[in-house]
Amino acid sequence: MTERIFNFSAGPAVIPVPVLEEAQRDLLALPGVGMSVMEISHRSKTFDEIISGADAGLRELLNIPKDYAVLFLQGGASLQFAMVPMNFLSLDRSADYVVTGSWGKKAVKEAQKFGQVNLAANTADGGFTRVPAQDELQLDPGAAYVHITSNETIGGVEFKSEPAVGDVPLVCDASSNILSRPIPVEKYGLIYAGAQKNMGPSGVTLVIMREDLLPRVREGLATMLDYRTHVKDKSLHNTPNTWGIYIINLVCKWLKEKGGLAAMQRENEAKARLLYDAIDSTDFYRGHADPDSRSNMNVTFRLPSEDLEKKFASEATAAGMDGLKGHRSVGGIRASIYNAFPRAGCEALVGFMKQFEEKNG
Ligand SMILES: *Cc1c(COP(=O)(O)O)cnc(C)c1O
Repeated sequence: MTERIFNFSAGPAVIPVPVLEEAQRDLLALPGVGMSVMEISHRSKTFDEIISGADAGLRELLNIPKDYAVLFLQGGASLQFAMVPMNFLSLDRSADYVVTGSWGKKAVKEAQKFGQVNLAANTADGGFTRVPAQDELQLDPGAAYVHITSNETIGGVEFKSEPAVGDVPLVCDASSNILSRPIPVEKYGLIYAGAQKNMGPSGVTLVIMREDLLPRVREGLATMLDYRTHVKDKSLHNTPNTWGIYIINLVCKWLKEKGGLAAMQRENEAKARLLYDAIDSTDFYRGHADPDSRSNMNVTFRLPSEDLEKKFASEATAAGMDGLKGHRSVGGIRASIYNAFPRAGCEALVGFMKQFEEKNG
């Protein structure tokens, strides 16, 4: 067997080894079925059990209230940037967007194609290093919704709690921190997340939406872009990503065995603390995000020069730690340490950081 390395990729990202092993065992034939999940009808009883299992698993882990729909869509979080405004924005109403990084900016760009956007806050000035304080938010009580990005994957900036938005539905792109800790789903109108950071493979997008928003959906949308279609047909209007949903089901089981999201949060905080402590213990490394906005999923930091950052990333790869190069738009180093990323990998990176500083500091 080939050795697995420490995979710090921001996404698609590391998947739990027991999940990969079970998928490998099932790849030729699901037990009792004699075919793999990719070869059976999405309307078969077997697949019905799989998608119901994923639905139930997510509902249990996230404590999703009954009046919320759980949808498994396609098109990535990027399609949700468009679907949210298509469904809920109208010409006589604007939506509030809180922008704390590159993904939020992209969400705004799409929304502007469908209606008015009010930038309720934008932390671009400081280089997207923080989430805004509640009293900085310029919220419009008549807004169609308020959109936030709970974790900005590129900058490594994370909301630690939900902003107060009154009765306006809170919409959240949770692609890179969904399932990393418990969240009060009842505070949200709609949560969406591409699966490939913390839930499984790319090609499935999870949408959790309060069903009382459905009457607000605009008429005249293409069938596949109308949330009502997917709620009504329980994500089976057309052929969904059956393989992706199968993996999400296995990831949910793995999370439950691990003790659920509260246990996951403790583990994720401990892992992130190892890295942030290493960053803070020297002037050689500089954290990108402000301490109280630091992400537990994507740890971003700089070295004294870009040359050293390049050297750091390439020597780390040679030492079995892949994916540390920061996003091309911001540079630096980014260590993505999602649920499935082992603590031993964080310890290895801390050891490498110390050695690298000794040699190059
Ligand atoms: C990765 C990511 C996206 C883009 O997801 P796609 O599934 O590739 O469209 C959007 N938002 C956040 C926060 C992300 O991390």
